[in-house]
Amino acid sequence: MSTNWKDALERVATEVVAQFAADVDSLGRFPSESVDALAKAGLLGAVSAKEVGGLALGHRGASEIVRRVSQECGSTGMVVSMHFCGTAVLEAFADQATRKAAATGEHFSTLAFSEAGSRSHFWVPVSTATKNGTGVVLDAKKSWITSASKATAYVWSSRPLAAEGLSTIWLVPANAQGMKIQGPFNGLGLRGNDSSPAVAEGVHVPQTAMLGEDGKGFDIMMGIVLPMFNVLNASCAIGLMEGAVARTAKHAGTQYEYSGSALAELPTIRNYIARMQIKTDMARLLLDDTLNALESGRADTMLKVLEVKAAAGEAATEVLDLAMRVCGGMAFRKDVGVERYFRDTRAGGVMAPTTDVLYDFIGKAVTGLPLF
Ligand SMILES: Cc1cc2nc3c(=O)[nH]c(=O)nc-3n(C[C@H](O)[C@H](O)[C@H](O)COP(=O)(O)OP(=O)(O)OC[C@H]3O[C@@H](n4cnc5c(N)ncnc54)[C@H](O)[C@@H]3O)c2cc1C
Repeated sequence: MSTNWKDALERVATEVVAQFAADVDSLGRFPSESVDALAKAGLLGAVSAKEVGGLALGHRGASEIVRRVSQECGSTGMVVSMHFCGTAVLEAFADQATRKAAATGEHFSTLAFSEAGSRSHFWVPVSTATKNGTGVVLDAKKSWITSASKATAYVWSSRPLAAEGLSTIWLVPANAQGMKIQGPFNGLGLRGNDSSPAVAEGVHVPQTAMLGEDGKGFDIMMGIVLPMFNVLNASCAIGLMEGAVARTAKHAGTQYEYSGSALAELPTIRNYIARMQIKTDMARLLLDDTLNALESGRADTMLKVLEVKAAAGEAATEVLDLAMRVCGGMAFRKDVGVERYFRDTRAGGVMAPTTDVLYDFIGKAVTGLPLF
């Protein structure tokens, strides 16, 4: 890997993402400045091939970008994660022009899998695709789409058109006639992620909008999307933990004026900070092992992919509980800046596959039961 993109990442993270993070959170607005700066630096092309102008950094490079950005702003980390997940599917199935546009960020991508009818069980869409002349009509009630009003097109799931199978994947323009976004987003955390429901009523797409084969959506979800999504969701959680540990340690240096002693001189405070650091390091090491497994095609890759999102998501909520405790009343207000991280970490565990669903899958895998 060249080091140039790492320098660019550091510059964008400190000079742009960090500057706008609090504003994005308090106004619940999309982190446009940060996404634009990442695009300008070429970093939105992390998972795109060099032949279409990308950086070809794979899971590891995408993870590093999401982790660094999330140390400053969880909302930016999440919208970039979803762009990388959508782009991974486009890399496998879209035409050259779309892939080129995704590599520059001119085409901003996301996933539209979750539906009102199957909620977190994203692998069983109930929405439909119906043949209409030479094209296809899509009808759906999508329950959450990150970057719903900013994405160029959605990587979209439906029931198959004609084939057997659980689903088919499509590329659906966000501005297609019949698409209604039910925004704006007003959630507890990741307040800039623009994650809204959208209703598709008679949305016409050409047959060529199909990504992969009819009925093969499940294979795309499990083979391409799940490893990318789980790794990046974990990277976002780890970035949030790292950001919170740094802020908490800084706050622990503040002194009581009457005695001149710092918070960090209290053994209890040091104990909590130590636990935060250990949980963060454990999650990061599991992430590194998952990336190693993906890169070498290890036999336990899928198990690690399932584990890493659950572990990092759970660790992040624990670490941020501790951060709130250490920083006390100053954290309850916005003085220290950890309460944003506290709220942002709550999202990862309920994003599908949710932590509880992952525990079920991991338990099945370990005991030799089929996952589905
Ligand atoms: C910030 C944010 C951004 C999102 N962005 C996107 C996006 O870009 N694209 C997209 O497609 N979706 C997105 N989602 C949706 C997300 O992936 C989930 O589908 C959604 O959060 C689940 O909603 P629900 O609580 O209604 O699900 P429910 O299925 O009702 O789950 C409720 C609870 O039940 C538990 N549960 C459900 N099934 C089981 C089981 N079998 N075993 C044990 N426990 C179970 C879950 O863990 C959860 O705690 C986003 C969600 C959030 C919060």
